[in-house]
Amino acid sequence: MNKGKLIVFSAPSGSGKTTIVKHLLGKEDLNLEFSISAASRDPRGEEVHGKDYYFISLEQFKKHIKAEEFLEWEEVYRDNFYGTLKSEIERIWAMGKNVIFDIDVAGGLRIKHKFPEQTLAVFVKPPSVDELKRRLKQRSTESDDKINMRIAKASVELATAPQFDTIIKNYDLDTAKEEAYQLVKEFINK
Ligand code: 5GP
Repeated sequence: MNKGKLIVFSAPSGSGKTTIVKHLLGKEDLNLEFSISAASRDPRGEEVHGKDYYFISLEQFKKHIKAEEFLEWEEVYRDNFYGTLKSEIERIWAMGKNVIFDIDVAGGLRIKHKFPEQTLAVFVKPPSVDELKRRLKQRSTESDDKINMRIAKASVELATAPQFDTIIKNYDLDTAKEEAYQLVKEFINK
């Protein structure tokens, strides 16, 4: 099987990593395909099953864990499980494409450790925790409780940034998008 490169984007929720990943997916020269994670939470807003996530029940999720079908998985928030199925990476490699991930910091580092040479692990840093809070409130797709849970996790996640291959500061979105594009292009052509 053609084993393509793995591009990991990790960051606290609200840092803008999803926007950056979507931007990169639009760049044909990078030959990227999005790794669709399995998630045990309900779809939010416009999210579509099989595009944004494979939305599955907690019970189904636990069956996949038991069968060792995940490359990595995390209980990112209480009772919200997320994971990368091994079959997902195989699906993308079989297409002859590189894989791009939008996953939490623990999962991102796990992939880097499993495939150290093939993986570029990027941490997207928000300007501040206050700004993160403002962005999450503006998005207003979650309850205050859920937003607070995400904020509490952000400080712990920010501390892992030095373990990544590189850090992109998302203070200005257009600059961050361009920086991400150049970094990924260089890594893929290496
Ligand atoms: P959200 O609920 O906002 O879509 O995602 C919550 C967090 O879970 C985000 O940080 C997202 O990147 C992360 N996440 C999504 N998919 C995966 C995955 O497959 N594995 C891990 N470890 N984290 C994931």
